[in-house]
Amino acid sequence: MEDAHVAGFREMKAMTTPVLVYYDTRMLGHNPHGWDPSHPAWTDAVKAMIALQYPGSNLETYSHPERPERLTAIVDRLMLDPIEGVRWVLPMAATTAQLERVHNKAYVAHIESLKGDSCWLSKDTTAVSPGSVEAACLAAGAGISAVEAVATGEARRAFCLLRPPGHHAHSDHASGFCLYNNLAVTAAHARESLGYQRVMIWDWDMHHGNGTQEIFYSDPSVLVVDSHCAAPFYPGSGLQTETGTGAGAGSQINIPLPLGIGNAALLKVFDEVVEPAARAFQPDILLVSSGFDCHYLDMTCTMDETGFAMLTQRMSDLADELCDGRLVLLLEGGYNAQALADSAHAVVKVLAGNRVK
Ligand SMILES: [Zn+2]
Repeated sequence: MEDAHVAGFREMKAMTTPVLVYYDTRMLGHNPHGWDPSHPAWTDAVKAMIALQYPGSNLETYSHPERPERLTAIVDRLMLDPIEGVRWVLPMAATTAQLERVHNKAYVAHIESLKGDSCWLSKDTTAVSPGSVEAACLAAGAGISAVEAVATGEARRAFCLLRPPGHHAHSDHASGFCLYNNLAVTAAHARESLGYQRVMIWDWDMHHGNGTQEIFYSDPSVLVVDSHCAAPFYPGSGLQTETGTGAGAGSQINIPLPLGIGNAALLKVFDEVVEPAARAFQPDILLVSSGFDCHYLDMTCTMDETGFAMLTQRMSDLADELCDGRLVLLLEGGYNAQALADSAHAVVKVLAGNRVK
């Protein structure tokens, strides 16, 4: 006969939900410096960008904001304060064919040709270092690995710790620190390989997911809700009037918000837009472009980790109600190490069954 302590432990175990966390140290190999003294044109562009966005910094003190420490801060926190139910998993790299579902062949070939090189791809400091192409294939493959595992019932929830991020990557060009659109590659795989008829995405990153919008703009099988700080804030798109085209008319729902938004604003987006849209759409799986740059420690917004936990709780409940619990989050932006660590930890805790209100 088991004692009360063992019985209590069994009860606690039963309350936790398995959550898969995808991560690979090779994603740290993406480490563009953002400028190169041997390329005067780049240096001038970086100087102009630093003057505009990072006053008080200069070429010597500036380091690229999309840096490896973003991921190591999250991993360190999850290791130091472990969460019952978490299982660490290595992602598979996305194949060329999987990438070509959402990117054109010439673009994928161009990125693949840059393996081992350093160069700039866009004036907004989107760049590659020698390890970037391998990291990008793993980042795009993480979401595929996660939806595959969720489809087999291995777990119902997954969080993909990845970089470079993806939601600014268009079908034919890189931008906003993004090379491949990880979430779009994931959604396309869920639809075309796993047979899901309807995929729903909520992009709660502070910036508009312009690449994701472009890729699915005429696709009625992928519903995208995108809440973000309104233009002219980067990237300057995401108007409410951008709603999809052709067969995809109505499949893009943009919620432009003022700078400074906090937890209440995003919870309102869930209550008034995400939840009713999901009930009407009846998705087979829910995906989240989970940037944490609305955290108060990051740029100009005022959310905190409790807010992200509450959003995750609502999405988990919605997934339970509509699609057998299938919910996969992919990391997007967020540039403050403390905010990233606290937010990701709070989110994974909810995914593992620790309820918040
Ligand atoms: Zn962002």
